[in-house]
Amino acid sequence: MENFDPDRIVLRNAHFIGGHYVEGGAATLDTRRPSDGVSCGGLPVAGPDIVDQAVQDAWRAFKTSGWASRAPRERARVLRRWADLVEADLATLAPLEAVSSTRPLRDASAWDVPFTAEGIRFFAEWADKAGGAVAATGTGHLGMTITEPYGVIGAIIPWNFPLVTTSWKIAPALAAGNAVVVKPSEMTPYSTLRLAELAIEAGLPKGLFNVVQGDGRTTGAALCRHPRIAKVTFTGSTATGAAIMTACAENGTKPVTLELGGKSPQVVFADVPDLDRTARTVARAITLNAGQVCNAGSRLIVQRAIGERIIDRLSAIFSELRPGTTWDPDATLAPIISLPQMERIHGIVQRTVAQGGAIVTGGRAFEAGPGGAYYRPTILTGVQSRMDAVQREIFGPVITVQLFDDEEEALALADHPEYGLAAGVHTADIGCALRMARSIEAGTVWINRYGRTSDFVIPTGGYKRSGFGKDLGRDAYEACLRVKSVLIDISKGE
Ligand code: NAD
Repeated sequence: MENFDPDRIVLRNAHFIGGHYVEGGAATLDTRRPSDGVSCGGLPVAGPDIVDQAVQDAWRAFKTSGWASRAPRERARVLRRWADLVEADLATLAPLEAVSSTRPLRDASAWDVPFTAEGIRFFAEWADKAGGAVAATGTGHLGMTITEPYGVIGAIIPWNFPLVTTSWKIAPALAAGNAVVVKPSEMTPYSTLRLAELAIEAGLPKGLFNVVQGDGRTTGAALCRHPRIAKVTFTGSTATGAAIMTACAENGTKPVTLELGGKSPQVVFADVPDLDRTARTVARAITLNAGQVCNAGSRLIVQRAIGERIIDRLSAIFSELRPGTTWDPDATLAPIISLPQMERIHGIVQRTVAQGGAIVTGGRAFEAGPGGAYYRPTILTGVQSRMDAVQREIFGPVITVQLFDDEEEALALADHPEYGLAAGVHTADIGCALRMARSIEAGTVWINRYGRTSDFVIPTGGYKRSGFGKDLGRDAYEACLRVKSVLIDISKGE
């Protein structure tokens, strides 16, 4: 990393269709490196014509390559080879991810790339393990269910963990026999191309994994509307999820999987045995990727008796974080994806202060960034549930603090009127932890930890306006299949 030169990383401004790079588009976008704001060149925007080309190609590959009708174990073998190639490609993929997103090179190497490979392997293993069932429905009848792929699945991806989120959508879809057309975020469009290249190199028939570049309004919308897209799987904001659901409803009543935004609470009881450890967990849950994580623990709800102590510890941890480019080996705080996004974060902080909240630490950008946008980890106290910073997903390193006296009050504060993505509960009392876990309306609850490591078998997904459907786990694999019922008369004809 010492002599790392970001300018040597090749960023392809192209689509990937039928196993080849394809140029051209309705317009170009000025995509920039988040770390230093340097332009990546013009990203082509696929209009309806290029989207059509990609979807038709995927459809043709689905119909003619025999991928869906292959023995599932053969599909699994290709996916496993793909995972091996991803791992072996670390020296290319990790720098590509780091330069073009907010993921530090160190983390991309140690986590994003290996985690992507392991996720692909996880779904490869499902290929021949989840299928239909046979049931006797009376002596004269036999019934069975057969699972079948949808055909072409459209996948729309956010910018915060490009490789990982793409693999969570694509690997189960391909393992189940589908073709995919992926639209990465226009802010992080590059590593997905390499992922597609490696899939073809691993033996995936060309055309089964196509990538179209562009913004949501033009490219994403055209993908959702395309009549050959049988299903859309989306990760991103709640507002975009609603637009996608509408487009899918109006253009073929297509099913959707929506992994959306969150405003997740971290509830800390006074009996935690090691306050330092809990404080480090709480801090990491809001500073990882500078808080640009869907399940960031952005609302600290702490029992009054330890409120001040945990705020002090959080302030100390925050003050040690050092901003820097994703390739700076000494940096411990990632850049914000863009300047407008940082202005949005700052606007929410300022409005909350105007509403009566108080800044303990942070509350502004770092003065001299290296060209990118870097925001100080921020603690807001004196907040009420109605205030902006408590209500709205900030997607930055900003945590609000609310105090409670008893379990009922903790539960009332933890509940968010709209979001229900994740929650954390920290306590030594297992009964209390499990009561909270049962009562909090969220798709994931962590007890005495926060965040996902290698728990592929445990699905992830939201409650309420945080979405529906799951990524990971058996659920994600089965969501890529349709169920057909076949009913047979086996009577002697009497
Ligand atoms: P976003 O909703 O702005 O964009 C996500 C993707 O949707 C991008 O590729 C974008 O181009 C596309 N898009 C935008 N408008 C569209 C439209 N009308 N039709 C089709 N596609 C459209 O989200 P973002 O800013 O890229 O990512 C941050 C958001 O993603 C946060 O809200 C975060 O919580 C959420 N997220 C959720 C999860 C989860 O698992 N629940 C994981 C990661 C991120």
